[in-house]
Amino acid sequence: MHDDNSGGRTDSIRPRHRIGDRGDHFLKRVEGETGANISACYQCERCTNACPVSAFMDVKPHQVIRYIQIGWRERLLSCSTVWVCLSCEMCTTYCPNDVGVAETIQHLRKMAANSAIQPRELQLATFHRTFIEELQRFGRVNEFWLMGALNLKPGILKDKIRTGALKEEIELGLTLWRRGKLKLLPHRCKAVGEIRTVVQNRNGKVR
Ligand code: SF4
Ligand code: SF4
Repeated sequence: MHDDNSGGRTDSIRPRHRIGDRGDHFLKRVEGETGANISACYQCERCTNACPVSAFMDVKPHQVIRYIQIGWRERLLSCSTVWVCLSCEMCTTYCPNDVGVAETIQHLRKMAANSAIQPRELQLATFHRTFIEELQRFGRVNEFWLMGALNLKPGILKDKIRTGALKEEIELGLTLWRRGKLKLLPHRCKAVGEIRTVVQNRNGKVR
């Protein structure tokens, strides 16, 4: 007979993390870098309910905020959420405490991009990185060159061939080209130097 609620499964009992176990360094850092009011979150979940893509996230928006409060950096920087987020800001709009959820997730995305932690959504993470590289190259993004540069990144082309995404991409590209919607040669923006400075300054704020 067992006099606890474990049902006898003593081998599965593990110590639980409580708020404060990991200190509040990560919380203070993210609040300082974003200006977001993360400490004010009381987990009402309105942000998650308002998010159009929360079903595709492994860590929901309200959990993102909670994990920052308890300092779970590794979990956040490896989650799919930072890459799945559309930056539509519905979560920020619906939050009753002005927490700044969307801005926080965008910041975590930059932290993830600059960290050595392997992203869960490799395709999306590589797309994000390539987009920024192309933006710095020409000052604007040419879709044809962007997809070409993306397909040359390790593992991308192989995965697209395996899933059939490459065939769809080629068909879409041909349709756009026939309709004059796809330019094969990129145009360099006059303000490319300024755009590079903006991107580098933004990346420089995230360590
Ligand atoms: S809506 Fe705001 S207060 Fe509610 S869980 Fe989300 S971040 Fe926290
Ligand atoms: S900004 Fe991201 S997390 Fe917020 S509602 Fe939009 S998709 Fe969801």
